[in-house]
Formats: sequence, C-alpha cells, structure tokens
Amino acid sequence: MSTLSPLADATPTRQRLLVIYTGGTIGMQQEANGLAPSGNFDQRMQQALGRLPLAHQQALPAYDVISYASLIDSSTATPLNWQQLAQDIANNLPLYRGFVIIHGTDTLSWTAASLAYQLQGLDRPVILTGAMHPLEAPDSDGLDNLHGALRFAAQPELQEVAIYFANRLLRGSRAIKQHSEALDAFASPGYPLLGERVGDDFVYYPSRGLAYQQRGAPRFELPDYRPVAQGEVVRIVIWPGMSSWQLEVLLDDSRVKGALLQLWGAGNLPDNPGLLPVLAKASGEGKLLAAISQCPQGSVYLGAYAAGYGLTAAGILSGGNMTPEAAFTKLVHLLAQPLSIEDQRRRFLTPLVGER
Ligand code: ASP
Repeated sequence: MSTLSPLADATPTRQRLLVIYTGGTIGMQQEANGLAPSGNFDQRMQQALGRLPLAHQQALPAYDVISYASLIDSSTATPLNWQQLAQDIANNLPLYRGFVIIHGTDTLSWTAASLAYQLQGLDRPVILTGAMHPLEAPDSDGLDNLHGALRFAAQPELQEVAIYFANRLLRGSRAIKQHSEALDAFASPGYPLLGERVGDDFVYYPSRGLAYQQRGAPRFELPDYRPVAQGEVVRIVIWPGMSSWQLEVLLDDSRVKGALLQLWGAGNLPDNPGLLPVLAKASGEGKLLAAISQCPQGSVYLGAYAAGYGLTAAGILSGGNMTPEAAFTKLVHLLAQPLSIEDQRRRFLTPLVGER
C-alpha cells in the first residue's frame, strides 16, 4: 500500500477524506492484451482534478490516497476483498471524516452492499465510484465521477454507504449495475436517489437517508469471511425446464451453506414436483435459503400463486424487494458469523441497512 497527500496542505487528517484505490477501468491504461489496472493513481487523480474549473477545485475537500498493492479488475473480487475494504475503513475511521472507494464497475454494487452490512451504524459517508472509461480517455466519465464522489463524501449528514455515478447518488445496498456501456451504468430500482448533482451543486436528500436507528453509532460487524469466500453461498437463477437433479447438484454439496434463488415474478418456480423436496432437504440440513425475483423491480410474495406454494413450508426466506447483490451479500455476511440458524433467519428478514 502507498499513501500520499496530493493537496499537501495543512488540513488535519480528521478533516480530510481517505480515497482507497482498488483498481477498475477508471485507473486502467492500455497494455498489449487490452486495458489493465495501472498505478500512480494519486498523481493522475490530482492532475485530472486540476482540469476542473477553479471554483470547483476550491470546493474540493482535502484528501489522502491509499493505493492497494495489487490493483484488480473488479471481476476478480471475492468476499475477501469486501472484508479487506471494510477492515481498512474501520482502521482509518478515527482519522478521516469520509471515504471514497475507487472500484471497477463490474462488481461495484456487490462491494457496496457488502460494506453496508459490515459497516452498520456508519456515522459518515463511504462513497464508491468508478468509471466506464479510463480517466485519461477522451470524454471520460472518470473525472466527473471522482469530483462528485469527493463532494458527497465531505457531507457529514450523509451517514451510509453510497454509490456516486453519472450525477446520481444511490444507496449502496439498493444499487445494481444496469448497463454494460452507458455512462449511467447504475440504478437503484427499488429506492429513490439519495442525492444528485444539480448544476454545480451536490444535493443530498436527508429524508431518504437511513433511519435513525440504522446509523449514527458505529457497531461494525467485521466477521472473518474466509469460511464463505470459496463458493459456499450459491446463486440459482431458475429457468423454464429446470430439473430437480440440477438443483441437487448445487444444493446437496456439503460445502454449500446458503443459496439465493431467483424466482419468476412474485415468487413462482417451474411446475416440477421434484424441486420443492430438494429445497426442503437443504433447508432441513441447516442451509440458509432465500428467494428474490428475477424482475429488477417489485417484491416476491411467497405463496401468492399456486406455482410458488410450498416455498415457505420448504424453509425458503422471502428476500422481499432486495437486489441480488443485497440478498447475496447478506447471506454471506450472516453465514460468516457464529449465529444460530434462528438468528440468521431472523436477521435476514430484518432490514439492517435500508436494503429492504
Ligand atoms: N472490468 C472492469 C472492472 O470491473 C470494469 C470497470 O471498471 O468498469 O474492474
């Protein structure tokens, strides 16, 4: 890890932000095999911000930069990367008023959701951002995203994990990557924007922030994710014609501790009488199983239709309107802790960080 204070000013650390650079397209440069993560981000960021109009430069908060020693394309991230980030934020919490995480977009919303669970009770902003194009590319979105992330990370009323991207501030535990090319690559289909850039202003909507009992007093949960970082939680998106043996392949393995099912509509699954017994067996063995919809908007209501009847009896928990990212990382987070199965189930159904 390398650190630098790009503004080299006298601002005491408690009034500064910490920027953590993990990799991603925003910092990539062209190599023989294509774009690859590249270093010197602190200087490149300073240079880029120097292109902003003077008034915007003067409004920037002071910040320090940490670059991870091994920069990654976020498609290689695992729960261990989520754990490391949460740990680094927790360790630096006494020193900084807010945090900006520079991250690849492919799994940015997964990291954001995971950080939200690990950093419960957060009393300052943690803003994730990245870009669809490298910082130095013509017409890159990188500079605008960095600028907005820094400005929102300096707003003390904002006390949660959020994503700033393409002028919009989204709740971290509600966001999905919705587009593989467009600049507004992220959305939070089940929750309104937490804030947005309006002209030259970065406006936070406090009434949409986390409820009082969910913020304001750090009560971080930083479990060891190693026991759940090797595929112990699986994600099963059902499809027409799915067979019970296929479900068995995924759920019968003793290494599997939990599963997120993505059902149709409000919670329907194929008309195959072999499926429910496989699910019931897995949950009877103490595996934590939850279901959400494949639709990006709306909730599941298990048992609303005959086609989904029996899911609750088979022990499947309703994920309500949670995103796949929020539901999956919640399973990981709960399964990493020494909780009874009853507590895991109860906490899965309880909104912890505005995720449902
Ligand atoms: N594959 C890249 C990554 O997630 C994409 C990006 O940064 O936008 O790191």
